[in-house]
Amino acid sequence: MLRKRALGNTGLEVSEVGFGAEWIGEMSDAELADVVACLEEAGVNIVDCWMADPEIRRRLGAAIAPHRDRWIVQAHIGSTWQNGQYVRTREMDKVVPAFEEEMRLLQSESAELGMIHYVDSVDEFNQIMNGPFYEYVCKLKDAGTIQHVGLSTHNPDVAIAAAKTGKIEMMMLSINPAFDTMPASDDINTLFGDFHEGGSGIDPKRERLYADCESRGIGITVMKPFAGGRLLDASKSPFGKAMTPVQCIHYCLTRPAVAAVMAGVKNVAEAKAAIAYADATEEERNYGPILANAPVHSYYGQCIYCGHCQPCVVGINIAEVNKFADLAKMHDPVPESVREHYFALDKNASDCIGCRTCEPNCPFGVHIAERMQETAQLFA
Ligand code: SF4
Ligand code: SF4
Repeated sequence: MLRKRALGNTGLEVSEVGFGAEWIGEMSDAELADVVACLEEAGVNIVDCWMADPEIRRRLGAAIAPHRDRWIVQAHIGSTWQNGQYVRTREMDKVVPAFEEEMRLLQSESAELGMIHYVDSVDEFNQIMNGPFYEYVCKLKDAGTIQHVGLSTHNPDVAIAAAKTGKIEMMMLSINPAFDTMPASDDINTLFGDFHEGGSGIDPKRERLYADCESRGIGITVMKPFAGGRLLDASKSPFGKAMTPVQCIHYCLTRPAVAAVMAGVKNVAEAKAAIAYADATEEERNYGPILANAPVHSYYGQCIYCGHCQPCVVGINIAEVNKFADLAKMHDPVPESVREHYFALDKNASDCIGCRTCEPNCPFGVHIAERMQETAQLFA
């Protein structure tokens, strides 16, 4: 069974792998029933419904209806269907009936997560939050039609702005090791364009964003974990090797604040490949050696929390210690939640004896013993 994680401070516990249902239009009813049964059996309990097509919403609603109380649904506000096409809009005369219809088609009186749909510029985000769109979202929450307010975006600048408002309880973001090297952009074509040029490790703004979400208790669910399948294909991946779905999922789940990875699946075989995460060994999850092939070795010197350096001779979880150290360094003073998590570890940086046994195992050339010393001082 998949493990569950807290979705920030919402009080919801979501499965580490979620159901990205955008391909159900390509499945027969029987295939859809098989996929849902397979996911439910593995403990998947969160599904995203950004899709506007009423037929897709109807079929998803019918598929999860027998066990609706077990599912946490991300329903999207502002995703509409007009003249047979998907239209993202902020026009309230379109937004309101579309959301009412979504709830009806999903056979739900209340959606656990009401997502402000797909905001990719900071200007648009500010307009939404200061106008009738956000007023409508608040009305939905007051009425219990949505239980928590979420936001979906591909742009880290929007997510950073959203986190600061204190009004957004969770976010769905596009995260994978290729996008993480790319700077924030309003231009969706840049985000999904040719990333073969590579970057220089994880973009600092994205790193900062994940840390902010963690410290503010804003849970993240992930879209595009496989970069639209490109990371699963050696000829298209910027890393020159195919990653497995399990490795991609593990990369996302090792970012701070991430609670669930929404895997888009087209059939039972793909569903099984995603839920295989539940029983995968540490070796199967390990994505480190693949990222080490990044163009110009762009992650060099940076800890990406892959865990490839284990085992430590005294039993330190090096990736976790490094993650908490990075979170701590981004804030002054160190947030209490980070401090608590760090000291809850069985062993921490002050247990390091400086033997450097782990360092040859790190594909990224991280000076682990030095980092442990610095971290011990940081938390002293
Ligand atoms: S020190 Fe290196 S091997 Fe260990 S978690 Fe960090 S990047 Fe991975
Ligand atoms: S240097 Fe520190 S972290 Fe690395 S194996 Fe030795 S004790 Fe563990």
